Amino acid sequence: MKVDKLYLRDFRNYQESALEFAPGVNLIVGDNAQGKTNLLEALAYLGSGRSFRTQKSGELVRFGGDFAEISGEVTSQGRAQRLRWVVFPAARPRQIYCNGVKKKTAGELSGVLQTVLFCPEDLLVLRAGASARRRLADNALCQLRPNYEAALTEYGRIMEQKNRILKDRFENPALLEILPEYNARLCRVGALLISYRARFLDALGKAAAGYHAAFSGGGEELTLEYKTVSTVEDPFAPVQALEEALSRHLERHGRAELETAQCLTGPHKDDFICSLSGLPLKTYGSQGQVRTAAISLKLAQRALMERESGETPVLLLDDVLSELDAGRQDFVLNQIREGQVFITCCEPGRFTRLGKTVEIGNGQVLSVNDIN
Ligand code: ATP
Ligand code: MG
Repeated sequence: MKVDKLYLRDFRNYQESALEFAPGVNLIVGDNAQGKTNLLEALAYLGSGRSFRTQKSGELVRFGGDFAEISGEVTSQGRAQRLRWVVFPAARPRQIYCNGVKKKTAGELSGVLQTVLFCPEDLLVLRAGASARRRLADNALCQLRPNYEAALTEYGRIMEQKNRILKDRFENPALLEILPEYNARLCRVGALLISYRARFLDALGKAAAGYHAAFSGGGEELTLEYKTVSTVEDPFAPVQALEEALSRHLERHGRAELETAQCLTGPHKDDFICSLSGLPLKTYGSQGQVRTAAISLKLAQRALMERESGETPVLLLDDVLSELDAGRQDFVLNQIREGQVFITCCEPGRFTRLGKTVEIGNGQVLSVNDIN
């Protein structure tokens, strides 16, 4: 799959821009704060309706703008397709169009345009806190499984309501009567999340192990281990069993939740542990090992998506190449020969041999140089 054209209106710092891209490598160059990452954000949003930077879609609208428009022409599923999003600054719901037809949910666009983002923070994801790893897994899963995205959104909503009950019950003790209903719903949806995550992380780990072995000459064996709530003994168990395990867990922590007035544990605290030959990278990994494993995870994510849809997702490399030494750069570039890639960097001369160069300044295209 590839993005042929992108049109932005009042998106971030883009007032109005129409861009055309090459089917292979597209280099986005420009000084700091000119709009390079914004452009990648627009490409990711075009496919998924999700920003990798913010949950608040209003932030996408250019300061002072009435609405933002992100439209694109995409080649995927064997044909040319058009995607269009109109996003409003306030609570007004966004509008979604695919090939001129209005859609209700982002899930209906699933598979039209999939993207994989790789940025410098991802290089350290195996050292970071659990939330960064959860975000990585959630982002990939949401694109792979529209039902997962629906469950994740639902889980977040129920948790928000439960937190409100826990806080407001001091003033309004009657609220405690509805708490069991919220707990039951949390367990039902939480069990689904665990089931999806277990399968996804298993597949991701196996694919990443292959890349890591190729990368490190086969000396180290990479493994992923999914960590979820302690009462879940087997995350591959049927959803019903997971739901019961979650319920036992909530019972144990019920009192503490009331005392602290917040949702304490659950799938919203999930994590995964990445190890090399049995040693957790978070504690024992060298800087190089942590980076190499992170690259393997990203390439694995792309491979899984490719396996599912039969098409290579668009890769978005935000500032990441300049963070890598020559050996790792070559490994990444060799692995991504197929498919469309967007690479941002600040130094104008670097990597220009790779493909089309688009120079960005203050939310506008300053120049285009296509070597082909
Ligand atoms: P760097 O090389 O530092 O990563 P960049 O080219 O990737 O820079 P971006 O993150 O794409 O920069 O753009 C940042 C600029 O966009 C900032 O100056 C920011 O103020 C501006 N910006 C972000 N959101 C909006 C918005 N809603 N309206 C107008 N401008 C915005
Ligand atoms: Mg940037």
